[in-house]
Amino acid sequence: MKIIIFGSTGSIGQSTLSLIRILKNTQNFKILALTGNDNIDQLCKDAIEFNVKRVVTANKNCIFQLKQKLSSHNIEIYAGEEAILDTARMGADWIISAIVGFAGVPPTIEAVKHCKIVAVANKESLVCAGKLLIDTAITFKSKLLPVDSEHNAIFQCINSENPKTIKKVTLTASGGPFRNFTLSEMANVTVAQATNHPTWEMGKRISIDSASMFNKALELIEAKYFFDLKPNQLEVVIHPESIIHSMVTFIDNSTLAQLCPNDMRNAIAHTLNYPERKKIPIKDLDLTSLKNLSFEKVDEKKFPSITLARMILKTKGSLGVVFNAAKEIALDRFISKDIKFLDMSNLVEKVLLLPEMNEFEYTLLNSIDEIISLNNRVRQISKEIRI
Ligand code: NAD
Ligand code: MG
Repeated sequence: MKIIIFGSTGSIGQSTLSLIRILKNTQNFKILALTGNDNIDQLCKDAIEFNVKRVVTANKNCIFQLKQKLSSHNIEIYAGEEAILDTARMGADWIISAIVGFAGVPPTIEAVKHCKIVAVANKESLVCAGKLLIDTAITFKSKLLPVDSEHNAIFQCINSENPKTIKKVTLTASGGPFRNFTLSEMANVTVAQATNHPTWEMGKRISIDSASMFNKALELIEAKYFFDLKPNQLEVVIHPESIIHSMVTFIDNSTLAQLCPNDMRNAIAHTLNYPERKKIPIKDLDLTSLKNLSFEKVDEKKFPSITLARMILKTKGSLGVVFNAAKEIALDRFISKDIKFLDMSNLVEKVLLLPEMNEFEYTLLNSIDEIISLNNRVRQISKEIRI
């Protein structure tokens, strides 16, 4: 099986390599290419270990360092956004889209045109270009499989059921580090506190997004596109143990849930082996050692990101691009201490309510160039807007 890993140096990328490292003894894998950004040491280490054909850094300033470190190896070396798109064009049996943020969207669209199975961790691809992505996969006869643990769980629960019999989908959320904080306690939280996720080991940006529940907000929109659901078919419950990854209720009121230890290698392996199942090196789920599986309602006063996502779900246009771009800049501004934690949702709401964004409630952008251009415009506005 020929494999490409976009975002190999990140949390999902490293989990993917850890899985392949073990499974390659029994399965025939060939990693064609790895891409990363500025963690050149990790990129080189992995490129050498897996004897890849090509390695790409998104950061053109890093190409010299990359070339120097790999000078004694026969590996093609490239840099820049276009080089990542070109890497998708190499074609593969399985590619994982695990770049963080909007930067992962154009490569995912390109992957769908050239690779047989596209395992999507980059939720921003569905949020910003859901319809385009799905239509492109149909045109190019490729298959999109969800890696996000909730969406992978939903996918497993739906399996071969008739989609018309789905009553509702329940996404579970850990509630993040501030689940038990009051609103006033959340006002002054630091970046370090927000990065410290209670149940999952993830990249910095998605960890902070989990603390604000912007991650769950993005996932609601992701689920709408992945499973073609109406807003009233989607709900979120807080499930602090992160053992049930999501649930699907059918019209006869049967609810199916997917459970497994919180290790992303489960979802990654599911897409890698699909439609088969194979043994993987993660720990067993010991139900008797779990004291409790608990569920709580989301307090949307503390987590207005969920209210904003519901607003987006009801629209048919490209507000997902606006939401995501404003959220990415709000996150940058929180990380750089320019705005406070709770101001991230204030910023996103303010941008969504700008009169110039009205048209995207019903205008659906259907080309990647238009989507990139709206993303750039909203990022600029979000950098300048006063909070
Ligand atoms: P991460 O920050 O750990 O890694 C991101 C990867 O993207 C790195 O390889 C980095 O080099 C690369 N990258 C960063 N900026 C880039 C740019 N401008 N151009 C090209 N490459 C760039 O992130 P992660 O936690 O692995 O998450 C990756 C994606 O998967 C995100 O969209 C996230 O929402 C999603 N996801 C992650 C998890 C998780 O458990 N970590 C779970 C579900 C979904
Ligand atoms: Mg998730």
